[in-house]
Amino acid sequence: MEKVLVSSCLLGSPVRYDGQSQNLLHPGLESLKQQKRLVSFCPEVAGGLPIPRPPAEIKEDRVLTKDAEDVTAEFIAGAEQALKICQKHKIRFALLKESSPSCGRNTIYDGSHTGHKVIGMGLTARLLQSNNIEVFSEEQLPALFAALAEN
Ligand code: SF4
Repeated sequence: MEKVLVSSCLLGSPVRYDGQSQNLLHPGLESLKQQKRLVSFCPEVAGGLPIPRPPAEIKEDRVLTKDAEDVTAEFIAGAEQALKICQKHKIRFALLKESSPSCGRNTIYDGSHTGHKVIGMGLTARLLQSNNIEVFSEEQLPALFAALAEN
């Protein structure tokens, strides 16, 4: 059965920049969890960033904290590890947290650190999608379940 890579914070792990989680409660997700089909992963922690950590946003081709610290290398390392995990487990679907500079599927913050979002993808979402792994956000659960049902 198909496995799904899932942002760790959506599964209740307190790995976000602020040390919190973003636990996503849904019976369909719980069912996948009980079937051991979810692979939990946080690219920013895997890339070597601490918890908590300063929030970061994508600005042009770099990822910068509010204090302009360049954390692009850590974000890229996390994205590459996410891809490796998917390849190792033959994962073709991912459920990632919307608007994160790593995991955002459809929107990201605009790089100004003023709370404004723009259309775009986080680094991990972008790398997975470009390697034929279909990425869904927590706002697209019905589409994820439909894709899993077809496979
Ligand atoms: Fe969640 Fe992704 Fe941010 Fe990690 S990098 S805390 S998994 S949104």
